Amino acid sequence: MTEQVDNTVCPLCQANNQCGVNAAEPCWCTKEKVPAELIEQVSDEYVNKSCICKACIEKFNLATANIKEVK
Ligand SMILES: [Zn+2]
Repeated sequence: MTEQVDNTVCPLCQANNQCGVNAAEPCWCTKEKVPAELIEQVSDEYVNKSCICKACIEKFNLATANIKEVK
Protein backbone atom coordinates (compact mmCIF):
# COMPACT_ATOMS: atom_id res chain seq x y z
CA MET A 1 0.00 0.00 0.00
CA THR A 2 1.40 3.34 -0.96
CA GLU A 3 0.59 6.03 1.53
CA GLN A 4 0.36 9.39 -0.06
CA VAL A 5 -0.52 12.45 1.92
CA ASP A 6 -3.50 14.20 0.46
CA ASN A 7 -2.76 17.82 1.16
CA THR A 8 -6.26 18.92 0.29
CA VAL A 9 -7.74 17.02 3.22
CA CYS A 10 -7.71 18.16 6.82
CA PRO A 11 -5.77 15.57 8.89
CA LEU A 12 -8.17 16.02 11.79
CA CYS A 13 -11.62 15.85 10.25
CA GLN A 14 -10.87 14.52 6.75
CA ALA A 15 -12.82 17.37 5.20
CA ASN A 16 -11.51 19.51 2.40
CA ASN A 17 -9.24 22.03 4.08
CA GLN A 18 -9.63 24.50 1.22
CA CYS A 19 -5.93 25.13 1.42
CA GLY A 20 -4.53 27.25 -1.34
CA VAL A 21 -1.10 25.64 -1.58
CA ASN A 22 -1.98 24.40 -5.03
CA ALA A 23 -3.92 27.49 -6.03
CA ALA A 24 -2.80 30.83 -7.40
CA GLU A 25 -3.98 32.72 -4.34
CA PRO A 26 -1.97 32.39 -1.13
CA CYS A 27 -3.71 30.14 1.34
CA TRP A 28 -5.67 31.54 4.27
CA CYS A 29 -3.54 29.29 6.45
CA THR A 30 -0.52 31.48 5.78
CA LYS A 31 -2.30 34.26 7.65
CA GLU A 32 -4.24 32.30 10.24
CA LYS A 33 -2.27 31.21 13.28
CA VAL A 34 -2.67 27.51 13.86
CA PRO A 35 -2.56 26.75 17.60
CA ALA A 36 0.40 24.57 18.59
CA GLU A 37 -1.87 22.36 20.68
CA LEU A 38 -3.88 21.63 17.58
CA ILE A 39 -0.81 20.77 15.53
CA GLU A 40 0.15 18.33 18.28
CA GLN A 41 -3.02 16.38 17.51
CA VAL A 42 -1.91 15.86 13.94
CA SER A 43 0.18 12.80 13.11
CA ASP A 44 3.78 13.64 12.31
CA GLU A 45 3.42 12.44 8.74
CA TYR A 46 0.88 15.16 8.05
CA VAL A 47 2.52 18.05 9.82
CA ASN A 48 3.68 20.68 7.33
CA LYS A 49 2.15 18.68 4.50
CA SER A 50 -1.53 18.81 5.03
CA CYS A 51 -3.31 21.85 6.37
CA ILE A 52 -5.72 21.78 9.25
CA CYS A 53 -9.00 23.19 8.01
CA LYS A 54 -10.43 26.45 9.19
CA ALA A 55 -13.39 24.70 10.83
CA CYS A 56 -11.08 22.68 13.07
CA ILE A 57 -9.13 25.77 14.07
CA GLU A 58 -12.35 27.59 14.90
CA LYS A 59 -13.67 24.60 16.81
CA PHE A 60 -10.43 24.41 18.76
CA ASN A 61 -10.47 28.14 19.53
CA LEU A 62 -14.05 27.90 20.73
CA ALA A 63 -13.30 24.87 22.88
CA THR A 64 -10.30 26.49 24.54
CA ALA A 65 -12.25 29.71 25.08
CA ASN A 66 -14.98 27.71 26.82
CA ILE A 67 -12.46 25.92 29.00
CA LYS A 68 -10.95 29.20 30.08
CA GLU A 69 -14.35 30.66 30.91
CA VAL A 70 -15.90 27.67 32.68
CA LYS A 71 -12.72 26.35 34.32
ZN1 LIG B 1 -10.63 19.90 9.82
